[in-house]
Amino acid sequence: MKISSAIKAVAAIIGTTFAGVALSESAAAQAGTGAGPTACQARLSPDRAVFTPLGELAGPAGCGGPDVVHLERIILADRTEVAVEPPATLRCEMAESIVFFVRQDLAPAAAAMGSPLRAIENYDSYDCRGRNRIEGAKLSEHGLAGALDIRSVRLKDGRVVRPADSGAPREFRVAMKAAACNRFTTVLGPGSDGYHENHIHLDLAERHNNYRICQWNVWDSLPQVAPLLPAERPEDAPPREEAKDGVKSDAKTR
Ligand SMILES: [Zn+2]
Repeated sequence: MKISSAIKAVAAIIGTTFAGVALSESAAAQAGTGAGPTACQARLSPDRAVFTPLGELAGPAGCGGPDVVHLERIILADRTEVAVEPPATLRCEMAESIVFFVRQDLAPAAAAMGSPLRAIENYDSYDCRGRNRIEGAKLSEHGLAGALDIRSVRLKDGRVVRPADSGAPREFRVAMKAAACNRFTTVLGPGSDGYHENHIHLDLAERHNNYRICQWNVWDSLPQVAPLLPAERPEDAPPREEAKDGVKSDAKTR
């Protein structure tokens, strides 16, 4: 066994023990039960995920949520693990949906690309802010620890696949979109509102009449028509938007 593998194995044992079996007294108290993991936590640990319970999170301006966890790794059925990089701060119910999404949908879709899934990139999780980072806007699901933005997935062979990238394998993007829209009530990606061109937003917001939002155009990798852009930017063109106000077009949102 290589040293790195040994360290990983030990870390996995420690992580699992801490997260699932031996909740510290303070963590259990914070979680509101006083007697161990919540029902949601018990469904995830020790076999499905490695996480740290954070208890109730009370942020400013209505931010926060009950039974929040720091989700570090998802354990697949074959006992291999998928890292959440960096770990995501989510309400346990949202973490649970992510865990099942990765185990049942994302891992098989990734494996179909020829290499097992090893990590998902957390582009944003708990974040006390308005929607699309607009001040005064309705509180984002991120503010309620109920949303996760995924920018990429990493495979065992080192490949990094960005689902919002039109150059990524189309079958993977189609499978990820179908599964996400089946599992989450809000899915926003490229083509949705201009704020999700480089990542996929997932949340479980409840709406009137169970209305769901599934907005993600899986663009073809090759443009259907020749681009109409001029070969060179004219000298007298006004400054680009992003240079003018300093807001990057790929700003994290919703
Ligand atoms: Zn988001």
